[in-house]
Amino acid sequence: GHFQEHDLNKLVADALTLIQRDLDRDNIRVVKQYAELPLVFCDDRQIKLVFYHIFQNAQQAMGSGGTLTIHTFPLEKSDGLYAAIAVSDTGGGIPPELVHNIFNPFFTTKEMGTGLGLSIAQRIVARHYGDIEINNELGKGITFTVTLPIAKYCL
Ligand code: ADP
Ligand code: MG
Repeated sequence: GHFQEHDLNKLVADALTLIQRDLDRDNIRVVKQYAELPLVFCDDRQIKLVFYHIFQNAQQAMGSGGTLTIHTFPLEKSDGLYAAIAVSDTGGGIPPELVHNIFNPFFTTKEMGTGLGLSIAQRIVARHYGDIEINNELGKGITFTVTLPIAKYCL
């Protein structure tokens, strides 16, 4: 991996361009709300992959029509400052009894799914000492919130 200080808003925007064609084709609207964030020490390619997997799942859950909402914001946790990226879709969510499986490798509800996207995403985020949280609202959609720690000191 190649770790450097990066602007998370740019990495999220880069990941979005990778899937923009599919979103356009499916008439999925994108609502962006990017707050200014301190730089995050991370592997840019890996972090883009995290958001690519999350965006792709959202796109696949929505099918045709829907709204993908992306919020970025600084978040103070008990152990320090984090960059937070919340991604919401209007794809209806997942039955609650299945939620605990979604980060498991090979868990998929798709005919052609690999079940690897979220397990890879979770592993990458863990390597950055971050976290992925899921908020599932059945009938509405899912919000994935990724938090990545901000380096406190610049030596
Ligand atoms: P895959 O996309 O190949 O199925 P993932 O690891 O990316 O594998 O996702 C695992 C499963 O989690 C999906 O098959 C789906 O059931 C569920 N899932 C993930 N994201 C969403 C979402 N945004 N809306 C509904 N279900 C989701
Ligand atoms: Mg996937």
